[in-house]
Amino acid sequence: MTQVIWLRNDLRTSDNTALAAAMAAGPTVALYLITPGQWLAHDDAPCKVDFWLRNLGELSAQLRALNVPLLIREVEDWQAVPHALLKLCREFDVQGVHYNEEYGVNERRRDRAVAALLSDCGIRVRGHVDQVLFAPGSVLTQSGGHFKVYSQFRKQCLSRLDVSLPPCVPSPAAQAPLAISSDPVPTAVAGFPRPTDYLRALWPAGEAFAQRRLALFVEDDLDQYHERRDLPAEPGTSQLSAYLAAGVISIRQCLHAALGYNRGELDSGNTGATTWINELLWREFYKHVLDGHPQVSMHRAFRSETDALPWRRAPYELEAWQQGRTGFPIIDAAMRQLQETGWMHNRLRMVVAMFLSKNLLIDWREGERWFMRHLIDGDLAANNGGWQWSASTGTDSVPYFRLFNPISQSQRFDPDGQFLRRWLPELQHLDKRDIHNPAAHRSLFGVTEYPAPIVDLGASRARALDAFRNLSEAR
Ligand code: FAD
Repeated sequence: MTQVIWLRNDLRTSDNTALAAAMAAGPTVALYLITPGQWLAHDDAPCKVDFWLRNLGELSAQLRALNVPLLIREVEDWQAVPHALLKLCREFDVQGVHYNEEYGVNERRRDRAVAALLSDCGIRVRGHVDQVLFAPGSVLTQSGGHFKVYSQFRKQCLSRLDVSLPPCVPSPAAQAPLAISSDPVPTAVAGFPRPTDYLRALWPAGEAFAQRRLALFVEDDLDQYHERRDLPAEPGTSQLSAYLAAGVISIRQCLHAALGYNRGELDSGNTGATTWINELLWREFYKHVLDGHPQVSMHRAFRSETDALPWRRAPYELEAWQQGRTGFPIIDAAMRQLQETGWMHNRLRMVVAMFLSKNLLIDWREGERWFMRHLIDGDLAANNGGWQWSASTGTDSVPYFRLFNPISQSQRFDPDGQFLRRWLPELQHLDKRDIHNPAAHRSLFGVTEYPAPIVDLGASRARALDAFRNLSEAR
């Protein structure tokens, strides 16, 4: 009764629902499919692909300890996946295929096509709920719809978690060795250039490392999380997003760690812990939104009327934003952090997203794509949710008239300019008063190598408000 665990974004052996189920059902082989064409079509960042491969290398060793061989196959895209799987099942006389569910439209289509073909051939295919605490579609309003308001969704999640916490699945015991050897894990895939050693060193691979990062975060930073999480110069957040997105650590492991620290309290007790649990539930919310409103994973706005906004075609301004040359230090520092580290602080993701979609009035999809192409934690649900929140086109998004001013955000969240100095060496010499808005002090300090602001904040704010107001009047 040979089984396959088809690995995707669940690159770990501990608390891996599908792996545990496969191994309980019979002798198991693991499969990972390399699909470069699909990854390019999905704008997966080279640093993320490299992170997957590095984690796969670590996982291969973990699987070896369980006597589970890891097979690797390459096909161009997901269209080719059903037949690739069938071929492999025939080659190894497989009776069952297990995977952990993914919730994008293309992922769902791929999985349905696999299930249809394999079941016709007598092979049992089973999807497992693993990426989320609750199966999408199971947290619903009283009238049976999907929640559109986060606070209501959260309330229901908390009351369900109060009654029963999803447990971590016990780690499987090693199986008897199989006469199948593992494939070597490739170190690169054509089309995805290798990231810098600096970037790679920031994100070590492997579940042992992810568990250590979680443990250290809980021990050293969780208590202060609510106070430090908005300060980009401080290491106040967990930096676990890349590990969660690739499934190197599970959402249940994170939740249980926070609860362990907070004596089992979900919504009271330590404020740092409850604030962090709240962020884990934002992650959950956006995955449920993706599942309940498939249009958002097809490049469409959640609020379809916002598709009529007069987005500007402004290639020069878009490029200035992408390359960190807008003349607004907080925007430029954040965009350089993204390019160099593959990650950006959450506060700054909101600030740069709002600047692009409101002050520059450039379509949020441009920003979503740029983020996806550079983020090591790029995740369709969270990225789309974050962009649509910032652009006021999404579910429970920021009201359109609440625009962040990048200069006051900078003064408030990086008061000493420490983060700005780290990423903008050309502004090193400015003091903490002037560094947030060098243009205002240009004549005084002669900052010539730093660009002038590409947009007037007041006029561009008014332009964005007009655009949104006209939209509501037209309805
Ligand atoms: P922590 O503060 O330690 O939070 C713990 C975990 O909770 C994170 O690792 C993440 O999995 C989850 N989380 C936290 N905040 C959010 C949130 N607002 N929405 C959804 N999940 C959240 N997150 C991604 O994982 N991938 C993305 O592609 C992504 N794109 C974003 C784009 C925009 C425009 C915005 C505003 C936010 C985006 N986020 C994304 C959410 C958030 O910025 C990151 O999850 C967070 O910065 C990761 O850092 P951390 O692991 O230190 O987070």
